[in-house]
Amino acid sequence: MIDLRSDTITKPTPEMLQAMMSAEVGDDVFGDDPTVNALQEKVSSLFGMEAALYCPSGTMTNQIAMRIHTRPQDEVICHKYSHVYLYEGGGMMYNSMLSPKLLEGDRGMISGEQVAESINPDDIHFPKSSLVVLENTMNKGGGAVYELEDIQEIRKVCDEKHLKLHLDGARFFNAIVKTGENPADYGQLFDTISICFSKGLGAPVGSVLLGTNDQIKEAKRVRKVFGGGMRQAGYLAAACIYALDNNVKRLADDHNRAIEIGKCLEELSFIDEVMPVDTNIVIGKLINEKSEKWLLEELEKSGILAVGFGKGLVRFVTHLDFNDKDLDQFTTAIRMIKD
Ligand SMILES: *Cc1c(COP(=O)(O)O)cnc(C)c1O
Repeated sequence: MIDLRSDTITKPTPEMLQAMMSAEVGDDVFGDDPTVNALQEKVSSLFGMEAALYCPSGTMTNQIAMRIHTRPQDEVICHKYSHVYLYEGGGMMYNSMLSPKLLEGDRGMISGEQVAESINPDDIHFPKSSLVVLENTMNKGGGAVYELEDIQEIRKVCDEKHLKLHLDGARFFNAIVKTGENPADYGQLFDTISICFSKGLGAPVGSVLLGTNDQIKEAKRVRKVFGGGMRQAGYLAAACIYALDNNVKRLADDHNRAIEIGKCLEELSFIDEVMPVDTNIVIGKLINEKSEKWLLEELEKSGILAVGFGKGLVRFVTHLDFNDKDLDQFTTAIRMIKD
């Protein structure tokens, strides 16, 4: 099967497994795991941020960030397609008693002007606007990448109005491989940043939350109560260190293959439109007469897995375990589907 459901389906390579098996470990709840500590230091220095915390998932790093930046009854400003709103089980409401203010915007991205307009006045009728969450790349926006200037505008508004700014950077490295920017360009713009190692970087488990020493101290408390304190987690952190050292630059290959998938889809009679392909996500819109269920079933018969992404939409994600040979097989098989 050619699996393009997500970039989370990758399995560790023998080299990554070797790095994991030879990791030095300790009890990370006591702060004693040298490999977890090394990962946290490596990532915080890469972003020029004070501190970092290794967590089991990107949902947890986002949920912790929302908790530490807010108080119950506050409002979080984000796009209506945000992962923190759509795909975290209502966590901001459940874990932190927050309500979302959902903004519209091109391919899941929002602007400083929109943020400024959406901040509630200081009036007891309204929840207090206290946090803005951005997502880069933007999953439901088809892997769209923000312009750094647009983020700077949002930062300016947050500074003026005393709001915090969090980045859901589950696919952050896809974004900077695309733009050629540095992690430090982002480190200075956000209060906290979440990055995932279990997506395009190919590690089996783990995300890191970045912030100031004080924020990460608080985040560690929240991680504990969320059940995310892990013991000899260095075996997992070793995979993340390996991924950072070896799997970042190659994301460009995933982006090139995604462009090829986009071109192939555009030529198919049952595809109406393909969203612009910025990184490793391709979203195809079917013609009116066809449903995503139909295409997913046809694809599966041809040995291809993808996911439905809303009415008439199908998403394909390229990754470490999808190579040029798989791409050939994909294009040959999908062209044979009869509408
Ligand atoms: C995958 C993802 C996350 C985190 O997901 P986990 O599966 O909990 O690690 C967060 N944000 C975005 C945009 C994602 O795609």
